[in-house]
Amino acid sequence: MKVIIGGAGITGLTLACYLQQNNTEFKIVEQSNTVSNNRSAIQISSNCHFVFEELGVLNLIKSKAIQEPMLNVYSNNQLLNKLSVTNKKEEGTLFIRRRDLISILMSKLNDDNSIINHKIKNVIEHKHDIEIITDQVAMKGELFVDCLGINSLNESNIVDTKSIGIWGISNNTNELYKKFNNFLLKDKHLVTYPLTNSQTAYTLILNSHKIDILEEDLSVKTIKNIMPKKYHELIDETEDLVVKRIYESKRIEWGKGKVISIGDAAHSITPHLAQGAAQGAIDASFLAKSIKEGKELILALKQRDSLLKKIKLESHLNKRRFQMGYPLSMLRNLFLRLYKPKYNWLFNSKYES
Ligand SMILES: Cc1cc2nc3c(=O)[nH]c(=O)nc-3n(C[C@H](O)[C@H](O)[C@H](O)COP(=O)(O)OP(=O)(O)OC[C@H]3O[C@@H](n4cnc5c(N)ncnc54)[C@H](O)[C@@H]3O)c2cc1C
Repeated sequence: MKVIIGGAGITGLTLACYLQQNNTEFKIVEQSNTVSNNRSAIQISSNCHFVFEELGVLNLIKSKAIQEPMLNVYSNNQLLNKLSVTNKKEEGTLFIRRRDLISILMSKLNDDNSIINHKIKNVIEHKHDIEIITDQVAMKGELFVDCLGINSLNESNIVDTKSIGIWGISNNTNELYKKFNNFLLKDKHLVTYPLTNSQTAYTLILNSHKIDILEEDLSVKTIKNIMPKKYHELIDETEDLVVKRIYESKRIEWGKGKVISIGDAAHSITPHLAQGAAQGAIDASFLAKSIKEGKELILALKQRDSLLKKIKLESHLNKRRFQMGYPLSMLRNLFLRLYKPKYNWLFNSKYES
């Protein structure tokens, strides 16, 4: 079978690595020509480590990453709890620069399978094959896998979540931030995590409904106006920020016929559980296995629905939990001090619930 993969993000590249391993003929088509930016980092949760192990790159990823077994949850300078983020093998979350992860996956691929600088414009399904039209050429295949993220050809499935994400890498040396932390604040939350070379990465998620600042006005200078003083040193020492409005998919849409969607294109998830990359990689693994076993692909992918629905729901609930204002935040803090939420169902999950 000849597979055309649209998009060389984490999902598309993971699928390409599997197809190459399985000797399945494929091409991967990407609109940009650069190896991702160097301005953001990514959390790779322990539930998707098996994917990178199967591809033989887990140790390479570990060599460029920092691993943490616990998430520290803070509110008002108070440590409320420490939550385990490990899987059965006692592996924790890995923190890596996005550029490094993409480079590792790309290094596994034969150059002649990658088509860069081509923007996919249209996909036409014929009776016996499928035609992919880019801004430069047309090509044919037997299956098209849409890994185009929120730019998916299935645009109608995307809704604005009223959240803005801000990602940065800071040179600040404060040891507090060099742990995996979640600082719960009113209408926003800040996650910090360590990177190699003594840098610290962070993700700040704002409820754009409640915080009166325009996305285009967000910069290292302006986010200090909406953040308590104690975080200014972290923000000050950031070279550049990635600011993005956050979208999510209304439904889980695996596509139809010879056009399959996976990763963010099928189920964009809000970032409050940091599962976007993990679930994209797991989709790719599951799809590659289903292709190898000659399964009916969409029917097979539907087996993932219940786990993904649970993750989407938990991510929504987290937004509310993380960003509560007084007095509800008092109750939440008391709950978190007395009770340790367990995430075994997630970190030990594979394809299904
Ligand atoms: C800054 C940032 C930080 C994040 N941090 C985390 C994190 O810590 N943990 C986590 O699990 N998730 C995180 N996420 C989410 C995570 O990155 C995605 O869920 C994950 O990468 C899966 O993406 P994907 O490959 O499906 O889509 P994408 O990453 O969006 O990749 C889509 C690819 O398709 C290409 N493309 C799009 N349209 C076309 C076209 N017409 N023709 C050709 N190519 C095209 C794009 O250039 C891109 O390379 C983060 C997201 C962002 C933006």
